[in-house]
Amino acid sequence: LVQLENVNKWFGDLHVLKDINLTISEGEVVVIVGPSGSGKSTLCRTINRLEPIQGGTIILGDKELPSEGRALAQLRAQVGMVFQSFNLFAHKSILDNVTIGPIKVKKVSKKQAEAEAMDLLKRVGVDSQASKRPAQLSGGQQQRVAIARALAMKPDLILFDEPTSALDPEMVNEVLDVMTSLAREGMTMVVVTHEMGFAHRAADRVIFMDDGLIVEEGTPDEFFNNPQSPRARDFLSKIL
Ligand code: ATP
Ligand code: MG
Repeated sequence: LVQLENVNKWFGDLHVLKDINLTISEGEVVVIVGPSGSGKSTLCRTINRLEPIQGGTIILGDKELPSEGRALAQLRAQVGMVFQSFNLFAHKSILDNVTIGPIKVKKVSKKQAEAEAMDLLKRVGVDSQASKRPAQLSGGQQQRVAIARALAMKPDLILFDEPTSALDPEMVNEVLDVMTSLAREGMTMVVVTHEMGFAHRAADRVIFMDDGLIVEEGTPDEFFNNPQSPRARDFLSKIL
């Protein structure tokens, strides 16, 4: 579904992605872990070209991602994103936050978009909040709305960049539970997270990044129980 070949990215003189090769299959759940500054967010943002790259190719479905223009916008609509900071529209209702993408980008009728949005809000457990504004919801509820908003576009893939890092501890699980059920339902997901329990439970594959490189990858069992590289062992010893 996604193929990155020899992707290289610099911020000025800083080489942040070094010859990244990564293939993600349909239905696969890939968890990316690694120390702060290792390039996890940049890799996420690179997958749908929110960040320009200086070398390599990114293929989504069977199309190479163009670097700009309408074709890029179209391909990008196939990729959902959920960030640490929910990024909901503050002045719109929860329902409008979820319907705006389908209505504006996909030209779905308002009626149909609202019906689908209510189903999704129900699925993530916030349907009773549909007419409220984001600020009236808890962080965990807002993040579940952000997930519903991503799902409303019927994406082929959803990228999650530390979706629970900004949440109070008691709200982390309600978001991880939604993500775990999405994973079980076969959604293709790339998840940057420090939640190792989630990685264990939901990941098909764990990728360990350090200093712009994919240092190691394997199943959760392989990675957590038997990390191969000294850098991965060092990382795990600090977080587990
Ligand atoms: P964290 O765990 O702290 O979120 P990360 O693994 O997501 O870290 P990135 O945010 O991808 O790391 O950053 C990788 C490197 O690129 C870091 O050295 C960072 O300082 C640098 N960087 C990120 N964004 C920019 C930017 N817009 N301009 C310049 N340098 C940047
Ligand atoms: Mg990051």
